[in-house]
Amino acid sequence: MTKTFSRILIANRGEIACRVIRTAQRMGIGTVAVYSDADAHALHVAMADEAVNIGPAPVTDSYLRADHIIAAALKTGAEAIHPGYGFLSENPGFVDAVVKAGLVFIGPSADSIRAMGLKDAAKRLMEKAGVPVVPGYHGEAQELVVLASKAREIGYPVLIKARAGGGGKGMRKVDDPNDFAESLGSARREAKSAFGDDRVLVEKYIAKPRHIEVQVFGDNHGNVVHLYERDCSLQRRHQKVIEEAPAPGITAEVRAAMTNAAVKAAQAINYSGAGTIEFIVDATEGLKPDRFWFMEMNTRLQVEHPVTEMITGLDLVEWQLRVAAGEKLPLTQKQIALNGHAIEARLYAEDPAKSFLPATGTLHHLAFPASVQDGAVRVETGVRAGDTISPFYDPMIAKLVVHGADRTAALAAMESALTQTEIAGTTTNAPFLTALIRHEGFAAGDVDTGLIDRDLAGLIVPVAIEAGSKELAILYASGLLKRPVLGDPWTALRGYSHNSALAYPVVLANGNNTVRYGVSVHGDERYAISGADTTTLLRVRHEPACWHVTGKGINLRAKTVAIPHGVAVLSRGAAATFNIADPFLLAEAAGSGGDRLTAPMPGLVKSVRVTVGDHVKKGQILLVLEAMKMEHTISAPHDGTIVEIASEGSQVKEKSSLVRFEEAASVDSTKN
Ligand code: ADP
Repeated sequence: MTKTFSRILIANRGEIACRVIRTAQRMGIGTVAVYSDADAHALHVAMADEAVNIGPAPVTDSYLRADHIIAAALKTGAEAIHPGYGFLSENPGFVDAVVKAGLVFIGPSADSIRAMGLKDAAKRLMEKAGVPVVPGYHGEAQELVVLASKAREIGYPVLIKARAGGGGKGMRKVDDPNDFAESLGSARREAKSAFGDDRVLVEKYIAKPRHIEVQVFGDNHGNVVHLYERDCSLQRRHQKVIEEAPAPGITAEVRAAMTNAAVKAAQAINYSGAGTIEFIVDATEGLKPDRFWFMEMNTRLQVEHPVTEMITGLDLVEWQLRVAAGEKLPLTQKQIALNGHAIEARLYAEDPAKSFLPATGTLHHLAFPASVQDGAVRVETGVRAGDTISPFYDPMIAKLVVHGADRTAALAAMESALTQTEIAGTTTNAPFLTALIRHEGFAAGDVDTGLIDRDLAGLIVPVAIEAGSKELAILYASGLLKRPVLGDPWTALRGYSHNSALAYPVVLANGNNTVRYGVSVHGDERYAISGADTTTLLRVRHEPACWHVTGKGINLRAKTVAIPHGVAVLSRGAAATFNIADPFLLAEAAGSGGDRLTAPMPGLVKSVRVTVGDHVKKGQILLVLEAMKMEHTISAPHDGTIVEIASEGSQVKEKSSLVRFEEAASVDSTKN
């Protein structure tokens, strides 16, 4: 490998910045990260050799500030800028500015980007180059009457698309000519506000459409190759959810037709670097060589490029760097082989049950599948445990990418990767992705872009909290599980008491409601949890990676992870979180203030272990309360002196005062 650059700047954040940095590091290239105020402690900043702050959190003040980014590159001596995807990656003005500053843009020329930037012009260009284009009107006229008559000519249903569109914005399907005017108006308004350009095109709405795209690569020496296709038909609101390569059911004949058309498209604009030609395919009768049409070209690296890397064994970022440095493409078309099947799933902090509302939160726990090590699963992420998903950026947590010898093997690998992924602290779409992977139609390869919407109800099944999760959370909260099991039979009988089982109080909180439980030990690995009117007997064994909880109707293997004010119970890719209230803090809050402990539940004061005037140490047992048929020990939350205490044998109501004492610090201060 010849020398490419000695230092590059990555004008992006999150997983794609980390992805680019990794390849650069492998190639011995120095890396400069840029970051907004919100990302000062982000993974990509930690990974890079150097990092430059480019402004406040909003993207318009930071990641879209071409001037700040170019200044950062010049200041740090970077020779080239990798734009990642999104942000400035397809902005020809940025490319011009980068070049003008004497730097290399790692991507195509500004002219190539411009040629493909507007859907109408790109389609006209492709038609000229002999690439099949969706039948439709891509002309200049924008009057309602003209567009409506073109729509009639094309034949309903039609699709109105913003020519400047992206991310599915400004796009409206129209089934009935009577709705055309209204849909046009709303597509235009959306396009105006999203892109500042309300011009549209009208095209045939393809029935049972599949989205199949071809990865292309060009260099500055006139060479263009393809790296096979990706199927991205699993979409929601025109956004890709799961991508795979190769496309299910594709034949050699269809592949040849599509890849030829893609190479032709790239050649038509002297394309250099990584690009994607997106085709829409009519799959009503399977894949046919004359039923696919050019939709658009993405003149950058795509989110889903790893599936191509998995089936070709190539590093597309390395190719980008080498091509940008002036090298020829590393391989010829004949040398690029396709091996096995790869699938990518986009794991997001979002709530499918609430219309996929983006979620925020701190990732208190984040663990990816163990098989990541052997290469069967690849995880592309820009976050670590402890990081926060902020409202400023795309809430992607990771891309899980798997490879298998065939599609069946890849599907199985993805299902296990998803169920082994553990996330606590934010809602995620992991259960939705798992349901998709298990979807019969998807598993059979019968995909189209409408699949998710059609079967949405079945795909967003509420995550059933596994039986035993709450019980495990209560046991965790009792503190009994944490005690080490030693060989000594007495310590093994954790908390066991001969006469009656000693109960540890636990309060689970749900909003303003609290529910009280008592946990007692009934021998080795055996516990009883009593609620208001039930008692559950459980056996809890410690297995190498999890707890195994068994009891009536319960057979749960799960991990417990501490989260602020509670615990997350993680099992099979789902996280159930429980808020734990400290019964004594609750008691204090309910009391008259100061150092008062009140009864967490109504009961009988069974025994009193201290008297007024005693100096007590934090954790020392003060009295035992019998409630809900169990004993609850009340111990001192901190050092202090007893001022008042309930009398033995008395009945107390919930929240009535049990003990009042003075805190050690205040005792000390009265001495002066
Ligand atoms: P954007 O640039 O906004 O993402 P695209 O032109 O790439 O828009 O289209 C996005 C998605 O919309 C496609 O992947 C496909 O699912 C759907 N789509 C686009 N054009 C058509 C069409 N003519 N008929 C049916 N569906 C379409």
